[in-house]
Amino acid sequence: MKKIIMVLMVFILSLSVMACGGSEGQTKGETYIAVTEPTFAPFDSTDEDGNIIGFDMDLMNAIGKDQGFKVEYKAVEFDALIPAVQSGNADMITAGYNAMDKNRQKKVDFSDTYYDSGLVVMVKQDNDNIKGIDSLTKNMKVTSQTGTTGADLAIKLDKEGQIKEAVILNGFDTAILQLQNGDVDAVIIDKPVAENYIKKQPGEIKIVGETLNAESYGFAVNKGNTELLNKINDGLRNVIESGEYEEICKKWSIEGVY
Ligand code: GLN
Repeated sequence: MKKIIMVLMVFILSLSVMACGGSEGQTKGETYIAVTEPTFAPFDSTDEDGNIIGFDMDLMNAIGKDQGFKVEYKAVEFDALIPAVQSGNADMITAGYNAMDKNRQKKVDFSDTYYDSGLVVMVKQDNDNIKGIDSLTKNMKVTSQTGTTGADLAIKLDKEGQIKEAVILNGFDTAILQLQNGDVDAVIIDKPVAENYIKKQPGEIKIVGETLNAESYGFAVNKGNTELLNKINDGLRNVIESGEYEEICKKWSIEGVY
């Protein structure tokens, strides 16, 4: 009888230890929802199983680990990023998002920046006519992704009459496809994303001319959400100091700014 009671007690004890461990894991910290547009490798993309992966996710996960929160990533179209945080459907934007943009700054609050970028013109490998933005002409179509800084520039060229048409598409994957099909003459896209594509699929497309502007990516939260913004900034600083930021840069083959 004594033996049975002992065994039972050990069993009950181990059950309660397991339960404690489990519930601790679930209640510890918050889970935030982040939105992104995942046709922007190496910052935001999807793997074969449809999971959202990239530099932004690794960096934000490291920040969350440091600050005691978890993050769930959701894909939306690029121009739905700001409405998602404004409506409270998401807590933050993790999307290689230019924090220098004045219009965006009016609508959301940006974290400290974590990557310096810029736009470039991309054409087919065998195109010898287009040598940079100045050689785009009245008979040419130029594409970029809706809501991006690249789209702003393409629309500006269209309005000024330098090009025939700005073709604004939903994802950078479709923009590149259109370029390869010959439907458009050039794509305006962020330099590290163009470079990543060329590295993965060499011989198809090339970058021409100079980098056209200077932008810096930041994470964004709803206006006034200083609690989350402080966590992100504190975590980012710690992740930079610990060397983890540099490791994540290496993993995704990008040049960090810290
Ligand atoms: N850097 C560009 C922007 O902020 C593009 C970002 C993206 O397509 N994810 O508009």
